[in-house]
Amino acid sequence: MEKSGLSLLSRFSKSRVLLIAALVAFSGAAVAQSADTHAQLKQLVDQNAANWKKVSRQIWEYAELGYHETKSSALLQEQLQAAGFHVQAGVADEPTAFVASYGTGKPVIAILGEFDALPGLSQQTLPEKAPVQAGAPGHGCGHNLLGSGAALAAVSLKQYMEAHHVAGTLRYYGTPAEEGGSGKVYMVRAGLFKDVDVVLHWHPADRNAVGNGGALAVVSAKFTFHGIAAHAAMAPDRGRSALDAVMLMGNGIEFMREHVPSNTRMHYIISKGGTAPNVVPELAEMDLVARSPFNQTLRDIWDRLQKIAQGAALMTGTTVEMRDIGSDANIIPNDALAAVAQKNLQEVGGFTMDDEQKKFALALQKTLGIETPPSLDLSNEIQPLRKFDPNQPSASTDVGDVSWNVPTIGFGAATFVPGTAAHTWQAAATAGMSIGQDGMVVASKAIALTAIDLFTDPALVQAAKADFAKQLAGKTYYTAIPTEQKPLLNYRND
Ligand SMILES: [Zn+2]
Ligand SMILES: [Zn+2]
Repeated sequence: MEKSGLSLLSRFSKSRVLLIAALVAFSGAAVAQSADTHAQLKQLVDQNAANWKKVSRQIWEYAELGYHETKSSALLQEQLQAAGFHVQAGVADEPTAFVASYGTGKPVIAILGEFDALPGLSQQTLPEKAPVQAGAPGHGCGHNLLGSGAALAAVSLKQYMEAHHVAGTLRYYGTPAEEGGSGKVYMVRAGLFKDVDVVLHWHPADRNAVGNGGALAVVSAKFTFHGIAAHAAMAPDRGRSALDAVMLMGNGIEFMREHVPSNTRMHYIISKGGTAPNVVPELAEMDLVARSPFNQTLRDIWDRLQKIAQGAALMTGTTVEMRDIGSDANIIPNDALAAVAQKNLQEVGGFTMDDEQKKFALALQKTLGIETPPSLDLSNEIQPLRKFDPNQPSASTDVGDVSWNVPTIGFGAATFVPGTAAHTWQAAATAGMSIGQDGMVVASKAIALTAIDLFTDPALVQAAKADFAKQLAGKTYYTAIPTEQKPLLNYRND
């Protein structure tokens, strides 16, 4: 729902920071032109919204896992093609990845779209735990909304650009397997972002906020130890236990834990531990994940973890191999883009839940296990722009790798009932109904307004690039994924 001019004004007066950002970004003359442009774009998004809400619902029903999003990717491609985009499919050795383009020349502005689901989070659009199909995948991270909302912004922008002869190239990147598959890393490596000037993205959340940097850099791998099998009672001296090696590696990690920055995360499971207690295990495996707010710090930690694995092999007379390496970098902030993004999100405002949505939301909040759940008004409010705090708990995303290569800014939009965390059945429930869909439209509008500002104001693109250079001074992009490793198209199954 649109905010009235009056409430928008009072919001602005509440936040001096925003007012300053708006004044810095726009001269007086540009404000009048921009207001008209913005009004037209928001109207286009509203006109296109019904179709993309349907698309988001369809992808929610498909609920396909990373690299298996065949129907979801095809639907998005088909819709973008029908809207006049040129689609290049199956890029970067990823069958479900694609790039949809409109226009020519500079600047090149890109919008990211994800569409993969999570295992085991199948859920009906009900405020009580009730899977559509027990154990089946579900959209607990709301990527059905993410991919559709990004496309809604793209098609509305294209219509505006066409009607007003706006120069430049608009791209939609269909990016598969965000959940653990590092899909974007391979797209970066394939050079698909080389000529892009600015990347815009968004993610479902329980509130509306600009995300300026953040997320944890992450590295993951399976460490497979090979020993020698033997009878565990009759001839243990002839065996070399791969499980001993895994356990010593775990001990090594526990001792290392004290000597890493305290915002480091290291978690693991023993994914293979032998076949029977009376057989010395000849094969055992640790599935390990390590994270840090800083890619450079994580690189050092990752080197040390590999040495622990080698040490464990040496101690036990086994050998070790590392496979299925995953890696996402942290997100590089961009203060120039953040100021504009914040101004635009504020201009869009959130959405007000109707009575039916409120009833659903209150019932769902009862299942969250929070004594005082946050107010439902969060969907209607815009959070102030915050500096990234490396000590705040966070997750990881392969958007990070894009942000190390192109100036990037992101939005969070209130698609989940306030108080809901992602990767839960509660998040999957709202991602399939009107609360999620109304939040999605907020994100689409904020992206569309920010993109058009970039297309029409070259100084803004320059400012974004200058800030990008400043943020990355002295740092080089690094991914732990070896150059020879192809996308792990079946990483969940092996
Ligand atoms: Zn997720
Ligand atoms: Zn996600």
